Amino acid sequence: ARLSKRRSSEAPRPDAGSARDFTTLPGMRDFALLKAAMESLELRSPLFVAHDGLAGAHSSIEGREVINYASYNYLGLNGDPRVQEAARDAVSRYGTSPSGSRITSGERALHLELERELAALHGAEAALTFVSGHATNVTTIGHLMGPRDIVVHDAAIHNSCTEGIRLSGARRIPFAHNDMAAAEREMASARRGGQRAMLLVEGHYSMDGDIPDLARCVEIARRHDAWLMVDEAHSLGAIGPTGRGVAEAQGLDPAGVDLWMGTLSKTLSSCGGYIAARADVIDWLRHTVPGSVYSVGLAPPLAAAALAALRIFQAEPERVARLQANGAGLRDRLKARGFDTGASIGSAIVPVVLGSSLRTAKVAGALLERGVAVQTVVFPAVPEQSARLRFFLSSEHTEEDLDRTVEAVVAAVASVGRVEKLPGLG
Ligand code: PMP
Repeated sequence: ARLSKRRSSEAPRPDAGSARDFTTLPGMRDFALLKAAMESLELRSPLFVAHDGLAGAHSSIEGREVINYASYNYLGLNGDPRVQEAARDAVSRYGTSPSGSRITSGERALHLELERELAALHGAEAALTFVSGHATNVTTIGHLMGPRDIVVHDAAIHNSCTEGIRLSGARRIPFAHNDMAAAEREMASARRGGQRAMLLVEGHYSMDGDIPDLARCVEIARRHDAWLMVDEAHSLGAIGPTGRGVAEAQGLDPAGVDLWMGTLSKTLSSCGGYIAARADVIDWLRHTVPGSVYSVGLAPPLAAAALAALRIFQAEPERVARLQANGAGLRDRLKARGFDTGASIGSAIVPVVLGSSLRTAKVAGALLERGVAVQTVVFPAVPEQSARLRFFLSSEHTEEDLDRTVEAVVAAVASVGRVEKLPGLG
């Protein structure tokens, strides 16, 4: 009883030199240093910014209206009354939780309906959903690959992919971002008999807003007898004339890809992830992959929201066109003012590379003061001198928003001027 009354601030600290001392963890020490440096520079953390309500193209932070580029509500479907109604109906019918793993008591017709439509979208035979996009990659890659195997992957792939490879024990071989000649070289030099191999890329890169040469990926994977897995988290609704992803964008047969991965958290305005593949592969995953077998099924309102959003975005391709026009519009305006937008194809993701992490954080702070919310991507997510602002576009941004944003970026950058590096970084 005495323990439960103790406040966490009073928790006993282990003696100095004890192996139980959390503060000896290298990550925790670095974190404390970074926080202290930011405090001494009176820099407000750009992280964990609380939005007051629904974060769409416009949002409110601490009671102030902002043009919002920090959320991945790509087609404006989070908040769509039809999506909300579908979620409410699912709660009325099924409750808030499936109260079990799919394999035991958690299966609902709604899951199967969503999976059928996700599979159809990718031209795949079947699909399996998971409660998180991150968990989808970790558990699927961790389950498919083993310690004798290799995964050759783009250096810019998401943390969930690298964590999955780590879990699998496979040899992890990165190649320079979008350098397919390097991918081929790495595959050729590492490939051995008696092992499995995977080529792993994203369909729309979340750091750069660019896309891979999928035909080359298929060719390399086939030549080296490797599986090709494509993470389409940011592609759905954003890439291709009707938003069906990178295969549609490049006019390719989706059957060249062995495993499609996607999330429900971006265009589909929900939470969760999925794999779409051959029916026998999905059936095997359904029965064996730990992240499904030993985890709860997708919550009914989230499955229903994703299904409603999936149907709406396919029925209303003008949303995709608006998103792409906005992405290209913002990128071109920024370029015209001399900013480095990298290789962004100008859709849902437009980076503005500014240099040091500290300078980028300061510009983001100055932008927020001017009514524009945008996240930074700083070291160690990207190399220290390529820290950037990352604009997530929405179909619901207006031309006026884009014009005001570019003026705000120009003013914010001018107000910050030259900035030194954060102590201890890069
Ligand atoms: N893959 C990529 C490329 C991502 O960017 C993300 C997260 N933004 C994920 C997977 C994980 O998805 P979720 O946030 O839906 O868990």
